[in-house]
Amino acid sequence: MASPAQSLFIFFLRYITGCNSKTCKMSLLKEFHIAPLQIRIACTCAKFWNDAWKNSNITADILRADIRLMYKGNDKCWSALFLKAMHDLGLLRSYSWLAIRSGTANCDLESYLFDPAAIKVALENIYSKLWKDNEQTWTSNSVISIGAAYLKYKSWFYDKDVETHKHHKAFISLKKLKILVKFRLGGSALRINDHSIPRNNRVCPCCNNGNIEDEKHFIFNCQSFNNFRHCHAYMCLWTDHHDIKAFCNQDNQILLANLLHDMFIARNRLLNNNLLNSGA
Ligand SMILES: [Zn+2]
Repeated sequence: MASPAQSLFIFFLRYITGCNSKTCKMSLLKEFHIAPLQIRIACTCAKFWNDAWKNSNITADILRADIRLMYKGNDKCWSALFLKAMHDLGLLRSYSWLAIRSGTANCDLESYLFDPAAIKVALENIYSKLWKDNEQTWTSNSVISIGAAYLKYKSWFYDKDVETHKHHKAFISLKKLKILVKFRLGGSALRINDHSIPRNNRVCPCCNNGNIEDEKHFIFNCQSFNNFRHCHAYMCLWTDHHDIKAFCNQDNQILLANLLHDMFIARNRLLNNNLLNSGA
């Protein structure tokens, strides 16, 4: 995740979604069903390695020189970095890394080809482990960490059964789509996403009943927005009041985006009125 190319890519995703730097990187990638860029880079490196030996041209000579550098103890040359990565993925059989690096492994590197598909599978397995404990469910009292943000996204919003999330295929205006995506990724204006406030103090400023203002409270419980739950225009949305994942991944994403847009406008209006009244 620390690659400059990956950072630029994450910056782009944050830019188009309107999310800020607090948004979890893995959630951003999962929202668009995009694998980390490193997987593609690793597969490209494997192709470069394979093609060099197959074509036996000047690239092969350069690679041989690079491997000699590695044998002399250079850990930063391209061959050392690439082969160490392949070794760590378990794709260099049972050779020890020290033996490969020093050239004593008795393995003919020039006849060694790497399968990009195997690299992809091995890396995807590693990244899938970053999804925290599958059975654990996020609550507003979960520890403050990137892991918690990731877990909430997975528990409440991510639909593993689709190739593309429904809202990305629906005809939703850009303005409303951004509101919807920010809501899913923990980038909305709700108090739970205000990291300048201690977690236990992120209570709802709209109903003042002492509950943490998270996405579930906003959608299902906040008394200040009861009128939306009873409004005829949104009636078909409320199929299950307690399952936020089903609610957020229901078929009618246009109506959901409209609802969130209207609810956030109402929330802003309410907070502005409260501010005016407190100042009067
Ligand atoms: Zn509330």
